[in-house]
Amino acid sequence: MKLAVLGAAESGAGAGILARKMGYDVLVSDAGAIKPQYKELLSARGVRWEEGGHDEAWILSADEVVKSPGIPDTAPLVARLRAKGTPVVSEIEFAGRYTDARMVCITGSNGKTTTTSLVYHLLQKAGIACGLAGNIGRSLALQVAESPQPCYVIELSSFQLDDMYRFRADIAVLLNITPDHLDRYDFEMRNYVASKMRILQNQRPDDTFIYWAEDEYIPAELGLRRPQSRLLPFSDADFADGTLHIAAPVAFSVATDRLSLRGRHNWRNCAAAAMAALAAGASTEAVAAGLADFPGVEHRLEAAGEVDGVEYINDSKATNVDACRVALEAMTRPTVLIVGGLDKGNDYATIADLVREKCRALVYLGADNTKLHAAFDPLGLPVADTNSMAACIEACRRLSQPGDAVLLSPCCASFDLFTGMADRGRQFKNLVRQLIEKK
Ligand code: ADP
Repeated sequence: MKLAVLGAAESGAGAGILARKMGYDVLVSDAGAIKPQYKELLSARGVRWEEGGHDEAWILSADEVVKSPGIPDTAPLVARLRAKGTPVVSEIEFAGRYTDARMVCITGSNGKTTTTSLVYHLLQKAGIACGLAGNIGRSLALQVAESPQPCYVIELSSFQLDDMYRFRADIAVLLNITPDHLDRYDFEMRNYVASKMRILQNQRPDDTFIYWAEDEYIPAELGLRRPQSRLLPFSDADFADGTLHIAAPVAFSVATDRLSLRGRHNWRNCAAAAMAALAAGASTEAVAAGLADFPGVEHRLEAAGEVDGVEYINDSKATNVDACRVALEAMTRPTVLIVGGLDKGNDYATIADLVREKCRALVYLGADNTKLHAAFDPLGLPVADTNSMAACIEACRRLSQPGDAVLLSPCCASFDLFTGMADRGRQFKNLVRQLIEKK
């Protein structure tokens, strides 16, 4: 059997290694350059690879193709494979054939990485052996090939779900569906919704489906699809009185001020993660302990330290207005908000009231702050114009008072001044650390 793998990063390299182990004649092919670590990984196991182009003749004669989720269906080679009828699957679909481990899968438009990391943390707390895979952690295929686990916690994007057919999640979590990546879905929301709902496919009556009951799309889709799975909804009513209550699969409750994550959006993630961990067999004690000491995920409302009574918070991952909104909603102290960068057509009017309510001052951080001035200056708050992280922190020091918070939640992409959101967040954290060390 000939198997081609398109894309040679974490998932592709893992798929190549598993395929080789299972006896396939395999070629891992990447149109760009392959990172040295993956070349070594493949070469050490005798897996054939190529970079900087595809051996199209070989690939078009393959019996099956594993495609990286980053490659769109419109890529010419993929289009030719589809036209020919060659099965094209995701790495998760492929790896799922060679394991009967319990699969806990998380998808949604927002909150996937946080919730997946949290479920993994809760299962570890409970002493349940498991691997972390999908968009985060190591490739599922590589783990199945070389360090099999009895359970996997998997973050799934819509692109991975698109190429999944027979895969079955024992426990599936669908956090929310809001418009995203529509360019890959013919600009049709229903195509994107259908992709997300695939996380339900193949579920049986003893499988669990955990979902956001207040979502605009999910309840209606369930009404149409009538899945057999055990349905476990969660909603804001579950933590309306300052305590997170979970009725099923096991009764459990914990005060929201005991949760390490802040903000209503994160409490939703906590509810979903707790339900998933309980469904996977974690004890209520372990879930309570894990929700209290989960360190969070870098660049997402991450505590960066306190200087002169001012708390610094790194939310560099907030590259759109919605992300900034949920961050501001989570703030309990007067806030100096850092906003700016590459604007992707943002409508700042939607957060103007919240900014007025929560913010003491605004620091604009971008190569071009014109649009920010137009949107926020009319609020009458003190503002500062900066175009480097050093100048930005300096302005925050000046504009904040003891008891305040400084929040980096920029609404924008970072590429005007930084190499990416991680660079922006780390520069912020480093400067805060330096201030703390100077004290
Ligand atoms: P993803 O992996 O889906 O991108 P993350 O866990 O990395 O999600 O969170 C990214 C951003 O999404 C967060 O910074 C926050 O702004 C927002 N977010 C997280 N969880 C939720 C949620 N449950 N509902 C709405 N927005 C959320």
